Amino acid sequence: MILTDTHTHLYSNQFDEDRDTIMQRAFDNNIKRFFIPAIDSGYVDAMYALEKKYPKHVFLMMGLHPTSVKENYEEELAFVEKQFSKRDFYAVGEIGIDLYWDKSTLAIQQDAFRRQIQLAKHMKLPIVIHCREAFDEIFEVLETEKSDDLFGIFHCFTGTFEQAQQAISYNMKLGIGGVVTFKNGKIDQFLNQIDLENIVLETDSPYLAPAPFRGKRNESSYLLQVAEKVALIYGISIEKVASITTQNSKDIFKV
Ligand SMILES: [Zn+2]
Repeated sequence: MILTDTHTHLYSNQFDEDRDTIMQRAFDNNIKRFFIPAIDSGYVDAMYALEKKYPKHVFLMMGLHPTSVKENYEEELAFVEKQFSKRDFYAVGEIGIDLYWDKSTLAIQQDAFRRQIQLAKHMKLPIVIHCREAFDEIFEVLETEKSDDLFGIFHCFTGTFEQAQQAISYNMKLGIGGVVTFKNGKIDQFLNQIDLENIVLETDSPYLAPAPFRGKRNESSYLLQVAEKVALIYGISIEKVASITTQNSKDIFKV
């Protein structure tokens, strides 16, 4: 069985003390593939160091996270483009709109999101979307950018059944993480009505740890708890969940 964590910030300084232990614990739990979203230029050296240490298991994305879209975002976007000109990445991410932390930057967040989508389409790469309190704003951009070249993952999906269907209509798979194990997480109520072909698994570590670790530092080995809950919801074995969702991740990231 091979599980794929499609969204994990393993380069976070929250793992600086015990990163090798964290990686080994994930390997021991059959989590073997890690897709690493970018945030901004300040984290890139740590991402490259992680990749150098685990080249067979770690796959990097590049992009500007919506909460890092500030006054200097033109420079940050230029930095992203420069990285893409130097080497390959597996996705443009994470990108999107976050109105939880800052509503005042909505206009530049939309601009950065749209331009990075266009970059992804141009390079035929998937996008990985971060959406927080911004479904309408995200869908508005996706509606104008939709095309055969637009595809990817709606990371940490926590919306309604209707929003799930809408995301899927734009060629997005739903990134399902710790929230599916929460008592009030809601997505467990309708997830089995969504074809498993449209689902990938993620931890978003070090954030959003699943039950029974809720509130603690999250780590990629906890993807097992997410996979177990998804298996329960769909009424199938965890091995089947692992094989289908890992295949889905291969279809998106082409690796
Ligand atoms: Zn993230």
